[in-house]
Amino acid sequence: MNITPVTFCENEINFNTIDVLENTGLVRAFFTTNKHTDYKYPNGSWLSNYKTISNLISISENSICATHQTHTNNVLIMTKDDSGEGITKPTSRTDYDGIITNEKNLLLCSYEADCVPVYFLDPVKKVVAMVHSGWKGTAKAICKTAVEKMCGNFGCDAKDVIAVIGPHACKECYEVGKELTEEFKINFEKELDKIFIPFTEDKYKLDMQGAIEITLTECGVLSKNIYSVNRCTIESSDLCSYRRTHSKTEHMLTAIVLK
Ligand SMILES: [Zn+2]
Repeated sequence: MNITPVTFCENEINFNTIDVLENTGLVRAFFTTNKHTDYKYPNGSWLSNYKTISNLISISENSICATHQTHTNNVLIMTKDDSGEGITKPTSRTDYDGIITNEKNLLLCSYEADCVPVYFLDPVKKVVAMVHSGWKGTAKAICKTAVEKMCGNFGCDAKDVIAVIGPHACKECYEVGKELTEEFKINFEKELDKIFIPFTEDKYKLDMQGAIEITLTECGVLSKNIYSVNRCTIESSDLCSYRRTHSKTEHMLTAIVLK
């Protein structure tokens, strides 16, 4: 189901809130659509933006955390002990592309420029996750790891989980080579025709959202609980797109926090 984020500006940063999550009263969840930057620590100019974000949600900037994303399907459970990881202190959490917590006031951050951010909330067990799923993570079904860890470690029931697919390169725009089909064979053998849309003789358009929806449904997440903000990074100049700008440093911030 498509949803429309509500946008507001705070200290020149444009925040786009995920209402379907925020309306539960349990979380703040958003993505930024300007002031994009290289997120890698240390980055002095971005720290002032994190201060704006921490003021907005009334937490310390030391309560924000991130991992060093490397297109894996590894998902890490973070606690208060991880506060500031990758934000106010260097991160030792490399090779993780998803973060889960059940602790309040710990802002989980992810960064994208065409890759797919996926927000998770179990409103029953009060557990959240933020996942970075580019084509590699999507092929490796990182969302499956996230849901399995929410269920295995926190007693969540997949039927209760709400998943929101954030802005990303859409299936009309995301051109890929034939060789990528090989990478998707393990987890999507029967659905390759749905995910890869023929374009030219050796090119396809890849439907990352479609693949993620298949993964989520297979994990037991209910279709009615899967939402998409339905915005394409390649088509929208206020979003970050590596394909459009070839910038290796600009990323959008996507984040969720339990209140
Ligand atoms: Zn598009």
